[in-house]
Amino acid sequence: MKTTAALLAGAAAVVAATAGGNCSKPYVTSEALQGLVRLEDLLAGSQTLQDIADAHGGNRAFGGGGHNATVDWLYDTLAATGYFDVVKQPFVELFSAGSATLSSSSSSSGEKVYTPKPLTYTPGTDGQTLSRPVVAVAELGCEAADFPAGVAGNIALVLRGDCNFAQKASLAKAAGAAAAIVYNNVPGGVAGTLGAASDAHAPIVGISQEEGESILSALASASPETPLVLDLFIESIVENRTNYNVIAETKQGDKDNVLVLGGHSDSVYEGPGINDDGSGSVGIWAVARALTGFRVKNAVRFAFWGAEEFGKLGSYYYVKQLNRTGETEIAKIRAYLNFDMIASPNYVYGIYDGDGSAFNFSGPAGSDQIERDFEDFFKANGLPSVPSVFSGRSDYAGFIENGIPSGGLFTGAEVPKTAEEARLFGGEAGAPLDANYHQAGDTVANLDHGAFLTNTKAIANSVAKYAMSWAGLPDVHLPQRRWSADRHRALHRSNARGLAGHGHAHAHSGPCGEVGGFDVREKVRERGGREGERKRVGGTIGKRVYIRFK
Ligand SMILES: [Zn+2]
Repeated sequence: MKTTAALLAGAAAVVAATAGGNCSKPYVTSEALQGLVRLEDLLAGSQTLQDIADAHGGNRAFGGGGHNATVDWLYDTLAATGYFDVVKQPFVELFSAGSATLSSSSSSSGEKVYTPKPLTYTPGTDGQTLSRPVVAVAELGCEAADFPAGVAGNIALVLRGDCNFAQKASLAKAAGAAAAIVYNNVPGGVAGTLGAASDAHAPIVGISQEEGESILSALASASPETPLVLDLFIESIVENRTNYNVIAETKQGDKDNVLVLGGHSDSVYEGPGINDDGSGSVGIWAVARALTGFRVKNAVRFAFWGAEEFGKLGSYYYVKQLNRTGETEIAKIRAYLNFDMIASPNYVYGIYDGDGSAFNFSGPAGSDQIERDFEDFFKANGLPSVPSVFSGRSDYAGFIENGIPSGGLFTGAEVPKTAEEARLFGGEAGAPLDANYHQAGDTVANLDHGAFLTNTKAIANSVAKYAMSWAGLPDVHLPQRRWSADRHRALHRSNARGLAGHGHAHAHSGPCGEVGGFDVREKVRERGGREGERKRVGGTIGKRVYIRFK
């Protein structure tokens, strides 16, 4: 043992010397760390993510080339500093995504282009555009008798309601339809799921009530000789994908009292995700790199989560793995800070409401102090801030469900800016805080540079503070953490039930991750057996059901 220890000590000394001698570095201070946060680095990092998305079909969705390249970039750049122990943590999750186009060219009123949404788990159209007459289905398409013979080989148009989408898709296929379109029974579009992939389903998209009714009225003047022909293309991907969390922890510092901070490294399939959450990823990445110039007393662990957009899967996986050791590893985490969207173009300076003063939902003990520390930063810089709802809609959820004090910053997603917020922060009242949220327009042009820089300095301020001292935060008290964990898990379950009821409308009050009514796995997980249910669904899907790239 002695020999080994001596050898290790020798090795450590060599490493320290080659890494520039950590012990000769000054202890970190807020001022010094903030001083190393530069806008040009934030923009260069953002541009790297943009280039990665551009080279991989315009997205960085989990398990795809764009996400893998993001993971590699984070890993390589942080490992190269020699200051961190960096690991890639793999995990496998079911991925599904799709896109569709729909238009009519044969209508007497000229070409009309619709905005279809593929239902989750729909089959695709085999890389082909189907050009087929559309035939309206009677009633609600919940019985075989509702499908007229003319549906065979053609596209069935079905009204939403009464039975689930999977039943409509199965009956359409049984009636010989080449594809089906379900239109909404209330204003607005349809985003839904078939629940699982199956060969029994016809390819199916959802369209709005208005679009459905416009097809119906065009059908009224169609005849067997002059049918209304629609052009429908559906691309659908459903497969298990391996993806990675990247975890970089300072080699120095007290490993029993660790600060963890994180953002998610994946984007939605619909766009490059440069604000969501390129901004959070690049912000903490920049702070991590700046930190390499200093000594720390407490270890600092930077986490870049995968598959957040599919229900915070990476962070949940991580916390679950820590829990396998009992409470030991979880108890070493003194605080968790989350940064998911920190440069929204019509931003507010939002701070998670850890003390529950604004939204009546407080985080675990200590979350109030984390919130106050952020508030103090903005105050000290003469800037306003507002509380941001703190109910588990981003990667901090797994941490508060383990009683770990948490906090973070959020500049806003698709929710409109209020008049009061416009008064405080400028920008446009009534317009979304991020009009490009979860869309192709979330590019490098979708960042507010001032907000990005200020928030990254706020991250640096909190990192410097907790890397040196836990003063103000409670000691780890396991019974209290367990009590808090139970409370937050119960609340998560009741929230999820609410989400299922409200569907999409409720989904977007926080940042991404919990897309109610669309992300089947999130709901399956909540709807009872949690992991067990989810595995059962995965088991039905199998390793890889079908994959259709164009
Ligand atoms: Zn996000």
